[in-house]
Amino acid sequence: MDDLLSAQLIDRLQTGVILLDRQGRILSWNAWMVKYSGLTLNDVVTRHLGEVFPETAQTRLQDGIEQAVRFKLSSMLAPGLNGAILPLYQQAMDRRLDQRMQQLIYVTPLHHEQCAVLIQVQDMTATVRRERRLRDQSSQLMATTYRDALTGVGNRRRFDQDLVNAFRDAQKKQQSLALIMIDVDHFKAYNDHFGHLKGDECLIRVATALQDTLRHTGDRISRYGGEEFVLLLADAGRATACTIAERLRRWIEELQLPHPTSHSGEVVTVSIGVTAMIPTHEQLAYSLLGQADLALYRAKDEGRNRCFYYDAENSDALPCCSDGAGDD
Ligand code: GH3
Ligand code: MG
Ligand code: MG
Repeated sequence: MDDLLSAQLIDRLQTGVILLDRQGRILSWNAWMVKYSGLTLNDVVTRHLGEVFPETAQTRLQDGIEQAVRFKLSSMLAPGLNGAILPLYQQAMDRRLDQRMQQLIYVTPLHHEQCAVLIQVQDMTATVRRERRLRDQSSQLMATTYRDALTGVGNRRRFDQDLVNAFRDAQKKQQSLALIMIDVDHFKAYNDHFGHLKGDECLIRVATALQDTLRHTGDRISRYGGEEFVLLLADAGRATACTIAERLRRWIEELQLPHPTSHSGEVVTVSIGVTAMIPTHEQLAYSLLGQADLALYRAKDEGRNRCFYYDAENSDALPCCSDGAGDD
């Protein structure tokens, strides 16, 4: 192949091509590079890349060039990891906004008298943009998959996964795991009195308030179903869980949401069942649910708007604020 043909081919490539000599000086700069850098071959020839683009000094590109010259090693600089090293722009507007083309750069050693290094630059802007869009869509989808559509807190799917993970973790570390189950009192009567839409609004208020009280701790409320919510507390014993449960109960009462047809007061209240255990390796995660449920039903039986915890010794439930809720 003659030199003229080689030069023509290099100029027609849809890839940036730069050739460097042994001292790292630019010998060749194809039409693609001219188009996207705004610099002609005359502007750059015999100069070092670091002189033409001072921002490439001390980047992995310079390391790659040095490795190619000294050790005959190739390298590849992926766009995600290295940012946009060279100031190349698809459009004039991008240059004004300094929105660089995303680049995939190959640095390859050459075995030739004059040419020591070949640098190839590929435009990855569309690929990177597509990947970013897909990632955003995927995290949005994940968020929707695990969010309760009405209240915005975690949904049952979220809770089921959290429970299995937290339980396994507690088994492994032999730490206490607590579960709190919260149920709105006489909610059927609320719906019957105010209508389903107002009922929905009430559930949103309750869920938001529950989550807000926990926000600073990073704990997560999930909607277990209907008007029931659940909360898992890792590394928490019964006393801690009872304290938190009492706080949640009081907080909902203090919202003072009118509930004229409640049989246990004049405002919306919740009953709460609490349990905590250091799980053995034989126990199943769902045993926690059964225990919290039993405690919750005792709270209901005892008049509602109260917190009960599951007492494993007697397979029974006791009020959280009694002395029995003692130490963790
Ligand atoms: P208790 O104090 O014993 O818990 O009585 P309750 O009336 O709250 O319990 P029950 O299980 O009898 O009724 C629950 C009600 O919750 C009935 C159902 O219509 C209502 N509910 C469940 N999901 C929703 C919802 O998404 N929106 C509304 N508005 N109501 C709901
Ligand atoms: Mg219920
Ligand atoms: Mg209820």
